[in-house]
Amino acid sequence: MTVTAIVGANWGDEGKGKMTDVLAAEAACVVRFQGGSNAGHTIMNDFGKFSLHMLPSGVFYPSVKNVIGPGAALDVKALLTEWNELAERGVPAPELYVSERAQVVLPIHRLLDELEEERLGERGFGSTKRGIAPFYADKYAKLGIQVADLFDAKRLKLRLEQCLAPKNVLLQHLYERPPVRIEEIMEQLQSEAKLLRPYVSDTTFMLQEAAGKGESILLEGQLGALRDPDHGIYPFSTSSSTLAGFASIGAGIPASSITKVVAVVKAYSSCAGAGPFVSEIDGAEADELRRRGGDAGEYGVTTGRPRRMGWFDAVATRYGCRMQGATETVLTNLDVLGYLDEIPVCVGYELKGGIRTDRFPVTAKLEGAKPIWKSMPGWRSDISRISSYEALPEQAKRYIRFVETEIGIRIATVSVGPRREQTINCP
Ligand code: GDP
Repeated sequence: MTVTAIVGANWGDEGKGKMTDVLAAEAACVVRFQGGSNAGHTIMNDFGKFSLHMLPSGVFYPSVKNVIGPGAALDVKALLTEWNELAERGVPAPELYVSERAQVVLPIHRLLDELEEERLGERGFGSTKRGIAPFYADKYAKLGIQVADLFDAKRLKLRLEQCLAPKNVLLQHLYERPPVRIEEIMEQLQSEAKLLRPYVSDTTFMLQEAAGKGESILLEGQLGALRDPDHGIYPFSTSSSTLAGFASIGAGIPASSITKVVAVVKAYSSCAGAGPFVSEIDGAEADELRRRGGDAGEYGVTTGRPRRMGWFDAVATRYGCRMQGATETVLTNLDVLGYLDEIPVCVGYELKGGIRTDRFPVTAKLEGAKPIWKSMPGWRSDISRISSYEALPEQAKRYIRFVETEIGIRIATVSVGPRREQTINCP
């Protein structure tokens, strides 16, 4: 029995949702520890295809306790919409626990996110406009609203007054919009809170107890290492830590209890939103990979935007795995590469001034970096129905072992399709 963090080694969209769904079969608890409804996990199983933004990926197993931890950005409306969608599509009601310490995304956070991205224009950060940056800004400025505040009208009003006063100045004088009224927000929050109430609890105590009893807990990361605000491509990062190192904090369990860190690595690269992306490709080459990628092409689960595409980037992924502290990796989307004679891989960067490196640099030094390519032989066949490592074509095994050597962490599992059963254990 373990406490396992499952996290992304790249820019997100690595296929963490599928792998969490696979691992959740053995778990007692699945916990969201950071982020909000700004990223989506695609899961395909016997109930159909789902895009989860707010609910943990363990919701398809009735025995799993699904937890929204204190570190997450709780969008109550998105949570309730997803909850209802599961019920409508025949999924048995999952067990859901929302931390009373989690903070809630307010409508004003979404509004400010949109207005700010508009104001920044071409210099924007590619926000999904779910209010995440203003939400975390408020959290760390101590202006946020905790779930427990929703059930105490007097306290909620005071907290909202504190939170809204500076925003109304911005709204009127920077964005030239009408101010928002506290009463309106109070009303909406309180009516949503009524629906949320049955799920609210002291999840920290519950998880500490579960960890103490040796129950299996899965901590589910959102996005990937390169979007971490401290260690990623800042400022094109997200606003909460995407690293396994933060998982214990965001969930509320001891750091020492996490014994396994599974980093999910994609067999090629994709990147939603702005920022440096050294192994990026364009034109017809990118269109073809985008069309073939994932389960229905590489388009954002939250925004529908076409993702930027690239070949596997060993420099970024090695760094991503190290920052995650990966104890093992899962290589996903390997099946997608089956159409290629030769598979390009980025094995180094040439920085400004002709400096060559295989270490992932800080954003300022990434500007203008060019990829150094190596080519691997393709296998030119459909491997999506193969269920054992031995049965994979030799070239596919070579690609797996090459990636493993480059990133320096064991590839324990390979994913050859979006469904649970399209998962191969490696020797
Ligand atoms: P996440 O946010 O990391 O869970 O990733 P997304 O759900 O945004 O994107 C992963 C996409 O790849 C989804 O469309 C999945 O259904 C799909 N997917 C996951 N694993 C595989 C795989 O091994 N092969 C293929 N072809 N698609 C996969």
